[in-house]
Amino acid sequence: MLFKDCQNVLVPGRALYSNARQLLDLVYTKGADSCELFFNAVKQVLPEALGDTFFLSGCHSTLDYKEKPQRTSTEELLTQRPDLVLKLQGCIDGALRVLVESGHFSPTDCDGIQLPIYTPSQQARRLLDHVRSKGESASLVVLQYVQQSLESESSLEQTNPKFVKYQKKLRSSVSAQSRFLSTYGGTSHMPLDDIYTEVQMELPNNSADNYKSMGFEEIIGPVGSVNDDADTVLASGEAGSGKSTWLQRLHLLWSQGKALQDFLLLFPFSCRRLNSEQRDLSVQELLFQHCCWPDRGQEEIFQFILDHPHLVLFTFDGLDELKQSFADEHRICCPSQRAPVDVLLFNLIQGSLMKGVRKVVTSRPEAVGPALKKHLHKEIHLKGFSLSGIDCFVRKHHSDPNEAAKVLESLQANTALLGLCHSPVLCWIVSQCHKELLGCGEGSLQTITDVYLMILQHFFQHHSTVKSAMGVNWLQENLGTVLHLGQLAFEGISNSSYIFSVTDMETCGVTESDICMGFLIQSKDMSLANSKCCEFLHITLQCFLAALFAILSRNTGCSAISKLFELQEMKKKRLRGTCFGACLNSTNIPNIVKEHSTMAETPNLQITATFVSGLLSQRYQKLWIQCSSSVLVEKKTKQAEKCLSKGMQQHFRSIPQPVQGEKKSMHAMPEFVWLIKCIYEMQNSRLAKDAMSKLEAEHLKLTYCNIGPVECTALAYVLQHLKNPVGIQLDNNSVGDVGVEQLLPCMHICNSLYLRNNNITDEGIHKLIDKVIHLQNFQKIALFNNRLTDACTKHFSYLLKTRQNFLSLRLGNNNITAEGAKQLAEGLKFNRSLQYLGLWGNKIGNEGAEALANALENSESIVWLSLVGNGVGSAGACAMSNIIRNSTSLEELWLTENCITRTGVESLTQALKHNHHVKSVWLKNNDLTSAEIEEMQQTDSRLVF
Ligand code: ADP
Repeated sequence: MLFKDCQNVLVPGRALYSNARQLLDLVYTKGADSCELFFNAVKQVLPEALGDTFFLSGCHSTLDYKEKPQRTSTEELLTQRPDLVLKLQGCIDGALRVLVESGHFSPTDCDGIQLPIYTPSQQARRLLDHVRSKGESASLVVLQYVQQSLESESSLEQTNPKFVKYQKKLRSSVSAQSRFLSTYGGTSHMPLDDIYTEVQMELPNNSADNYKSMGFEEIIGPVGSVNDDADTVLASGEAGSGKSTWLQRLHLLWSQGKALQDFLLLFPFSCRRLNSEQRDLSVQELLFQHCCWPDRGQEEIFQFILDHPHLVLFTFDGLDELKQSFADEHRICCPSQRAPVDVLLFNLIQGSLMKGVRKVVTSRPEAVGPALKKHLHKEIHLKGFSLSGIDCFVRKHHSDPNEAAKVLESLQANTALLGLCHSPVLCWIVSQCHKELLGCGEGSLQTITDVYLMILQHFFQHHSTVKSAMGVNWLQENLGTVLHLGQLAFEGISNSSYIFSVTDMETCGVTESDICMGFLIQSKDMSLANSKCCEFLHITLQCFLAALFAILSRNTGCSAISKLFELQEMKKKRLRGTCFGACLNSTNIPNIVKEHSTMAETPNLQITATFVSGLLSQRYQKLWIQCSSSVLVEKKTKQAEKCLSKGMQQHFRSIPQPVQGEKKSMHAMPEFVWLIKCIYEMQNSRLAKDAMSKLEAEHLKLTYCNIGPVECTALAYVLQHLKNPVGIQLDNNSVGDVGVEQLLPCMHICNSLYLRNNNITDEGIHKLIDKVIHLQNFQKIALFNNRLTDACTKHFSYLLKTRQNFLSLRLGNNNITAEGAKQLAEGLKFNRSLQYLGLWGNKIGNEGAEALANALENSESIVWLSLVGNGVGSAGACAMSNIIRNSTSLEELWLTENCITRTGVESLTQALKHNHHVKSVWLKNNDLTSAEIEEMQQTDSRLVF
C-alpha cells in the first residue's frame, strides 16, 4: 500500500466505519495476495478471542457467495460488498430497473442514487446501502441480478470471444469519439463530462413530464410511445438546441458503462458524414466500415447482431443533413443486399431492415414529415437550456466563480440576451466571449446577429498578434479570411455541403492561416481518418459566414439576396433543385454546386437570410464601409427590406375571410415567425410599422409554432405597432418566463393572451401582471397547463381587484390548492366584471370551493365557472348552491370529476329551483350510484350526469 493510499483511508474527521469500509474496498482492489496479508494483519491486531469469532463467522478471502447458502442475503451483501461494488459499477441502471420492477425501489430511490455528483462506485455503494435498508428480499434481488449478469457475460466470453473483443474495441472507439466537445474554438477541447448540462425535453402527448430532463433509459423505453411496433426514437430540435451534444452524451455514457447497458453494441453514425459515401453498401459494410472494423470474425459478429437485434443500438445524428429526404418507397429487407446509404438508412429507420434493433435519430423539425412520423416509436423535442440550465452551464464553463457571476449578472440585466441563451450554442458563444460581453456595455447585445458578430471578433482577437491593436477596422483587417471562409460557407449552404475537402477549400482560397482562426475544425470521421476534411464549428456559424459573404462580396448581387428571401415562394412553385444554384451562377462565383433537392436547404437558407437581415441593419452600415462598395450594400439593404415587406403582405393576403359572426383570425405559417425574426434582426421599426399597418386580423393564432423567448422578443418588436388590439394565441409553444417578459412591450395591443402549455411559472405571471394591470385593453388570459402554484394567485387577486373590466381567467391544470383559491376569492370579492373562471384540474378541494362560492355568491357578472377535477365534495357543492341561489348571471357550472355525493347534489337541486338563468350543472363522474343518478336526473333536466 502506498502512502497516498493510507492518506485516502485515514481521512481526519471522517467516521471510523467509513474509514474501515474504505480500507476494505482498497485491499480488495489490490488482489488476493493483499487480502491474505490483510487477514494476517487483522489476526495479529485483534485480541485472540475476538479474532477467532471473526474468522469463524466466515470472513475469508473466497468471495463467492453461492458457496455459503446458510447466510442471509443481507449478510451476503455485507460480506461481498467490495466485490459487489466493483461489479455493480457497470450495471447500476439495470440493477435499479429490477429493483423498481420487483417493487422494492421507487423512482425517487433511484434518483437519489443516480445523482450525477456521485461517481459510479459511490453510486454502487449507495445502492447497496439502500438495498440493505429495504430488507432481505431486496438484497436477494440484487444478488441474483449480479449473478445473472456475470453468468451471461462469462457465457458470452466463452462462446463468443471474438464478439467480446469487438465489443471492447467498439466501446473504446465510441468513448474516444465522444469524450470531448469540439466547439471549444478548435484551440482547446473540453471534456464532455465537465461541461454537459441537462437540456429540457418535451414528450408530445405527455404533458406531465414536459420540460424535465429524462434519462436515456426512459427515452428508449415505453413511456410516451406512440407506436409500440416501431424501433426508432426521434429527438428533434432547432439548430443549436443541443441535439448532437445530447447524442454524444448518450454515446459517452454507454461507452463508460453508465447507461443503456442492455445494449451490448452501439453503432453511432453521422448523417453529415454518410453524405460522402458514394458506394452502394450492405448493412454489414455500413456498420463495420463506418463505425468499427472487427479485427477478426466479421461474419460471426454480424451473425450475432442479426440473431440478437434487441442487444444492438444504432444512432443517426442530423437526419436533416442527409442529402436525400426520407422516403418510404424503395424497400429492402435483406441485410446482405447492397444499396445507396440513404436507402439503407431509411429502411433501417422504418424497420424493414434489422427489425428489433433500436434506433435513435436526431433531426431538425423541418425534416420530419408524415412519412417518417408513422415509423416512430416516439418523438421527443429538445428545448435547449432552462433558466437554471443556463446558470449551470455558465458556472461549468468558467472555472473562476467571479467570472461566472459577472456573466450571469450581465445576462440578468439583458433579458433579450438571456432569452437567446436558452439555445445552448448561443449560451456557449456568450460564455466564450465573456470579455467582449462585459466590455460592450449593458443591453447593447440584443439580436442573434449581435452575438455572432461578437464571436467573429472574438476569434480574430484571439489570433491577433498584437492583442490590443484590434481597432474599429477589425473586420477590414481580416477581410481576406472572412471572404474565403464566407465563400466556402455560402457555397456549402447552397449545396447542402457541410464537410469540405482540401480542393473545396482551395477553390475558395481558404489558406492554412484562415483555417487556424478556429471557425473550421477537422472533420471527425473514423472512415476518413487520414484525409484532411474540415467542417464549420457549428452549422449556424456556417450560415453566419455565408451571410457575411452575401453582403460583402462584390460578386454577389442583389439577386442573391432576393433569392434567399423568396425561397418559400420558389418552393411553392416547385422550382426546387435549381433555386439557389441559379442564384450562385448569376454571381460569377466558381461553382461547386451539384443540383439536388435536400431537406436541409430551407432551414439553413432561412437562418442565412435571418443573418443577412441582421447584418444589413443600419447599426452595422459603418462596419461595411471599408469592406465593400457602400452603394452595393445600400442596394442590398433596400432589396432585403423589399423582400421582407413583400413576404409579410403575401402572408396577410392569405388570411381567409372570417366565417360570419366570428373574428377575423390569422393562423400564422412558419414563415411568418421567420419574417418577424428577420425584421427584428434588422432592427427596422419602420418596416415593422409598415407591415403591421396592413394587418387586419383581430386574432393572431401562433400555436405549435416553436416560439421560445427569442421569437417572443421579435414578435413583441413587430406586433407593438399594430393599429388595433388583438387576441394573441401562443398555446403549445415554449414561451417560458423569459418569453413572457419579452412579450411585455406588445401587451398594450393585446386584449386576450392565450399561453396554454408554455412552461410558465409564478415568476413570469408576476411580471406579466405588473405590466397588464395598467392596460385597459387586456381582458382575458388562458394559462392552462403551466407550472403555476398558489404563489401566482395573489397577483391575479390584485388584478381582479384593480381591473373592473377584466373578463376571463383560465388557470386549469396547474398546482393551485385551497390556499390559492382563497387568494383568488379575495380579489373576486371586489370584482364586478369577471365572466369566465376556469380552475379545471387543480386541487382546491372543499375549502377552496367554499371560499370561491363565498366571493361569487352575489356575482352579477360570472357566467361560466369550472371546478372540474378539484377534489370537491358535497360541502363544496353545497357552497356552490349559494351562487346558484343568489347570482343573477351564472349560466354554466362545471363540477365533473369530483367527489360530490347525494347530499351535495340535493343542495344544488334545491338551489336550482330558485334560478332560471343557469343552463347546466355538470356532474359527471362524482360519487353517485347509478340509482341515485337516475333518480336525480328526474328532478331537474339541467343537471348533467
Ligand atoms: P445541434 O446539434 O442541435 O445543432 P449542438 O449539439 O451541436 O446543437 O450544440 C451546439 C453547441 O452548444 C455545442 O457544441 C456545445 O458547445 C453547446 N451545447 C449543446 N448542448 C449542450 C449541453 N447539453 N451541455 C453543454 N453544452 C452544450
